[in-house]
Amino acid sequence: DRPWRPLDLDGLPLRDSLRGQSPYGAPQLDVPVRLNTNENPHPPSIGLVDALGKAATLAATEANRYPDRGADALRADLAYYLTPDAGFGVHTAQVWAANGSNEILQQLCQAFGGPGRVAVGFEPSYSMHRLIALATATEWVAERRAADFTLSAEAVARAIERHRPALLFLCSPNNPTGTALPLDVVVAACEAMHAVGSGMVVVDEAYAEFRRAGVPSALTLLPQHPRLIVTRTMSKAFALAGARVGYLAAHPAVVDALQLVRLPYHLSSFTQAVARTALAHADELLGTVESVKAQRDRIVRELPALGLRLAPSDANFVFFGVFGDQQAVWRALLDAGVLVRDVGIDGWLRVTAGLPGEIDAFLAALTRVLAGAD
Ligand code: PMP
Repeated sequence: DRPWRPLDLDGLPLRDSLRGQSPYGAPQLDVPVRLNTNENPHPPSIGLVDALGKAATLAATEANRYPDRGADALRADLAYYLTPDAGFGVHTAQVWAANGSNEILQQLCQAFGGPGRVAVGFEPSYSMHRLIALATATEWVAERRAADFTLSAEAVARAIERHRPALLFLCSPNNPTGTALPLDVVVAACEAMHAVGSGMVVVDEAYAEFRRAGVPSALTLLPQHPRLIVTRTMSKAFALAGARVGYLAAHPAVVDALQLVRLPYHLSSFTQAVARTALAHADELLGTVESVKAQRDRIVRELPALGLRLAPSDANFVFFGVFGDQQAVWRALLDAGVLVRDVGIDGWLRVTAGLPGEIDAFLAALTRVLAGAD
């Protein structure tokens, strides 16, 4: 065995824009209570595990063949699933699917962004929007949300007029703050984008199923706004993060555009089969949403009693603070066996709504930490 010759990142001909960057990712630590990646805490039932396994077995019988390149059957199922939220009959041609909504976002940047083009987002928000822009050589412009993490129609329209972006990212409910956008903000974005004619409006609705009653989805705006793209995922409400399935709804022309950048056969036959089986069990899977929302609302009720501030949440997580040193609080909670998320925003932490027992543990640990007992 000859030893490897020494080499580190600096010794590689890496693109300049990637130098000094860190890979994205929350710590994956083996602790009793994991509330840091906004997963659905409910594992699939025995019956569903069996059905998912059978679907994978059936797909295995044709594993010598490439999968359906257009994922037509899966897209038809997703279109059917989206229809009630959209308020119109969503068609297969308006839906596209990929390996997680991260891959959808990447394909959008590949098709509409790139060198010499600008993407705008309103921070704090989902940091992969910025990182995917960077990885596709799209210039990233960070605008700010208001101090209470809201975003006004005027601010969005002004940003579009100023930067004339190829892509404008909105996130509703927003990660990490949980804040949902009123639809008039999305309408203002689409109208301003139409007026300047520079690009597309992306509304990342990864957490849409957790929103409170009366908050409509941006899907309802699609028929009037051809510049609008709504992205969704099966990783959160559908409790299927391990399968990696994300999707979008948009004008069929957008789906055509993405064919130019998608890799052939990007979505494995196993992924397609498992996703379709999960969709056939949508009632069971989405049945977990109410109990997750109940735990979220419990966190929202309890934290102010500990003297903390929080942002109203329409998602399956709560953003809370304000701490003098949120890193120390994060560490003290971890020492108590509870992993939450420090997204790097001074004073604030994010906790995912887990199982009732997990939230018991989180609230008890946080109470002890704040009392200085730990
Ligand atoms: N969008 C938002 C706002 C998210 O928080 C996440 C996951 N953390 C994603 C997209 C990506 O999820 P996935 O790739 O699992 O669909």
